[in-house]
Amino acid sequence: MPLLSVAEALRRILAAVEPMPAELIGIEAAHGRILATGLIARLTQPPFDASAMDGYAVRSADLADLPTTLAVIGEAAAGHPFGGSLGPGQAVRIFTGAPVPAGSDAIVIQEQAERDGGTVRIRNGDVDRSHIRHRGLDFSAGTPLLDAGRRLGPREMALAAAMGYGEVSVRRRPRLAVLSTGDELVAPGTTPGVGQIVSSNHLGVAAMAEAAGAAVEFLGIARDLPDSLAAHFAKAGEVDVLLTIGGASVGDHDLVAPVLKAQGMVLSFWKIAMRPGKPLMFGALGRTRILGLPGNPVSALVCTRLFVVPLLRALLGVPPQEAVEANARTTVPLEANGPREHYMRAIQQPGPDGVALVTPVRSQDSSLLSPLAEADCLLVRPAAAPAVPISGLVPILPLDF
Ligand code: AMP
Ligand code: MG
Repeated sequence: MPLLSVAEALRRILAAVEPMPAELIGIEAAHGRILATGLIARLTQPPFDASAMDGYAVRSADLADLPTTLAVIGEAAAGHPFGGSLGPGQAVRIFTGAPVPAGSDAIVIQEQAERDGGTVRIRNGDVDRSHIRHRGLDFSAGTPLLDAGRRLGPREMALAAAMGYGEVSVRRRPRLAVLSTGDELVAPGTTPGVGQIVSSNHLGVAAMAEAAGAAVEFLGIARDLPDSLAAHFAKAGEVDVLLTIGGASVGDHDLVAPVLKAQGMVLSFWKIAMRPGKPLMFGALGRTRILGLPGNPVSALVCTRLFVVPLLRALLGVPPQEAVEANARTTVPLEANGPREHYMRAIQQPGPDGVALVTPVRSQDSSLLSPLAEADCLLVRPAAAPAVPISGLVPILPLDF
């Protein structure tokens, strides 16, 4: 079996991925969703010239000579505009968020004014016009502000609502099922018996998939028996992505590929020139894409970061990320790399010159979860990369995204 690069394997996984269909949902339920259609402002914000302070709406022409006394002819509060118009020598008591009355072009903040019944005395002081938020200061109707493919985080939620959207068109969340496989595995929270271990990978893999926008379901733990695997696959239903964990090598107990094949799935099965990682199983049945992840905890999570996250982004119509996102300076010398890309688990810190510093964690063993939990990024060593001295620049990929 020829060795594939990570980039080539990813290219094959992404070939012919179509974005999910769109659905229209209420804005209050849209947090974390991906816009299927870009949003163009339907409203102008602010919709009117509004006061940014509590004080008095005045005519700047009346402030040429200070102090001066003006007649207070009414009041404007948020949601309660003053209906009339200001003439010479007049002022309107105004509060933050109220429309600036016709005839007024300046706000005097209340700290610079002294009220006395029906009049207000404006003292010396700087009287500037910046206390008015002019109509359209934020945005105007017709302006495109949020592109298709944008994730609706807290800031986008608020902006979309202000733009006039009660409903938004978003990509349907890809349904993704996760199946653990192995005779040795027991459910989390269970005390393992002799020769058993707790299945942990499915939770890490699922959390990463969920963070990338998938709706995740668990299919449980299948035994290393064809019938058990087949019965668990049958539970998956019409999912968009099926992830299996373990059982994807070529050992006697590695039955995932043969059982899926027997169910009619078109399977590809590759060796990828990477560490950590093993052969990666990839296949399709109808519109379900199937990825067989290695069982080793670190390999499973690194493969999820490298292959599943981009697959989900493509399904959601999110623009692809750079394969490698940033450069950092290594704090330790790195040996020359062999023929396999190495995704070392590492920790970033801010560097003195603005470039991050990166330090590999103490052990790079692909079965160890505790060093993985200390790491926050992958330090990428390309195939056949030469040795790097301390402070040399290396590519890194954040584990969170
Ligand atoms: P496999 O790919 O099935 O040969 O598994 C490789 C290693 O990963 C073995 O030591 C398994 O016990 C371990 N492993 C497989 N699946 C899981 C899982 N869901 N959680 C934790 N460890 C696992
Ligand atoms: Mg196994």
